[in-house]
Amino acid sequence: MKNQQVADILFRIADILDIKGEIFFKVRSYRVAGRTIESMGKDIEVVIKEGMLRDIPGIGEALEKKIKEIVETDQSEYLEKLKNEIPEGVLRMLGIPGLGPKKVSAIYKHLNITTIEDLKQACTDGKLRNLDGFGEITEINILRGIQLIEKTSGRALLNMAYADGNILVEYLKNCDRVKQISIAGSLRRRKETIGDIDILVSSDSSEEVMDFFVKYNDVQQIIAKGSTKTSVLLIDNLQVDLRVVKPESFGSALQYFTGSKDHNIKMRNLAMKKGYKLNEYGLFDKKTDEYIVGRNEEDVYQKLGLAYIEPELRENRGEIQAAIKNQLPNLVKNGDICGDIHIHSNWSDGFDTIETIVSQSKKMGHEYVGIADHSQSLKIARGLSEDRVIKKREEIDKINRKQDDGFRVFCGTECDIKSDGSLDYSDSILEIFDYVGIGIHTKFKMTREEATSRIIRGMENEYVTFVAHPTCRMIGRREPFDLDMEEIFDTAKSTGTCLEINSFPDRLDLNDIHCKQGKEKDVRFVINTDCHRVENMEFIRFGVATARRGWLEKSDILNTYILKEIEKSFGV
Ligand SMILES: [Zn+2]
Ligand SMILES: [Zn+2]
Repeated sequence: MKNQQVADILFRIADILDIKGEIFFKVRSYRVAGRTIESMGKDIEVVIKEGMLRDIPGIGEALEKKIKEIVETDQSEYLEKLKNEIPEGVLRMLGIPGLGPKKVSAIYKHLNITTIEDLKQACTDGKLRNLDGFGEITEINILRGIQLIEKTSGRALLNMAYADGNILVEYLKNCDRVKQISIAGSLRRRKETIGDIDILVSSDSSEEVMDFFVKYNDVQQIIAKGSTKTSVLLIDNLQVDLRVVKPESFGSALQYFTGSKDHNIKMRNLAMKKGYKLNEYGLFDKKTDEYIVGRNEEDVYQKLGLAYIEPELRENRGEIQAAIKNQLPNLVKNGDICGDIHIHSNWSDGFDTIETIVSQSKKMGHEYVGIADHSQSLKIARGLSEDRVIKKREEIDKINRKQDDGFRVFCGTECDIKSDGSLDYSDSILEIFDYVGIGIHTKFKMTREEATSRIIRGMENEYVTFVAHPTCRMIGRREPFDLDMEEIFDTAKSTGTCLEINSFPDRLDLNDIHCKQGKEKDVRFVINTDCHRVENMEFIRFGVATARRGWLEKSDILNTYILKEIEKSFGV
């Protein structure tokens, strides 16, 4: 479980050594060890227990000691010492996408820049272009990178806010003064990043609820405590706002605090037109101020002549008009998913055996699972050579013969799309798989035309089932490709290729807006986790949430097909 954590610390050490200008071989040994541990199919703690750490190529006595220390104490004294030798702001520059340690080192040493603010100014003033290996383009790229981190800083990824919010709701339920409780705000709408967590409670004695709330174990700081609203900072730096209202206002307050702002403006205008006044306390008669409804959210929508609008749709993207006409989509649900078909096993860079993945899939109530390991040229991710593809096919067939409950494992691949749009396996190998996912993992710098035609060429191969993480964005770290989505959708439709909604919280790719546009073009999607550890198979709910925000229904999604249907669709 600690492999990633150990690897991250080793990478960090390598980065700082690089900034300091240490010799190449020393720096490299930390990077290589980090990469090995990151992609190793075995728990580092187990490796240590078995005394096998030194058997890993490149790990000598000094590294062994450091790795053991990290595993035991979750930190490294050496890293802490190194950190003290370099200004904090310089270390922070390492977080700017596209800016590696070599460049950071040059900026620090030659220009003596020690903060991101100063770096921004230096780029704007054109001061970097004279450094060796820098140019005007570098300055533009650095500015873009800084913008990218500014855009997401202070915002948490959906999974983190989701976990915090749900645990806190469970905690608050233990307070017997809490009558009703719900998450509200952008977390309830399942936006891809969350600024702060909103929780709404109905109670007749708010004081006691607030007292109970601030005693929560993970509270780091009480920002403000009042009788209607209290804000705290959790130890992971997420802010939580708790509001307490009277039971007769719970529904209208939930509607109000769920937002979005634009959705609410439309709602209030509609209420006015119908002779009402809508606010967080309830729906009132405009003339007499008489309270009409407010206890339940459903009543608010109903009184305004609207079908109930699911929170994920409340973004003012046409949902109110659709609700008036009773034409809202019947959104896909978590329980509609019958299997995840983009999972990495320890045949490539995944952590778990196929058997472990099967048992987790069954626990989740799925009928099938698809193992989609990387293809041969992705050496860094232990992509499968053609020989190993054949061996993996045999192993999966063997596992399938052992299933007595009708569960099926599909043998798939996540085949790399090479820079010219050709695929990383020949057709004769692609034919071995039950289905083929394709994705871009190298050479990300492309023009709009290059990126679009690379993916389109990939989709045109007859063996291809879906395109994995089509825009390749990493939230806060890598911008999405500039793609001609119209053309992508048209080709997806004409070739019958599905587009993935990748559920990993830092990807969520395609995003909600793409989903809605694609549905209008009658494109089919597939919701996968792309996980490398079974613990993360639960992330599928964030892909489903993204699909719901994109107005998708069960029939728009390939892996809502039951086993018999998907077998037919794969032709196996
Ligand atoms: Zn991938
Ligand atoms: Zn993948």
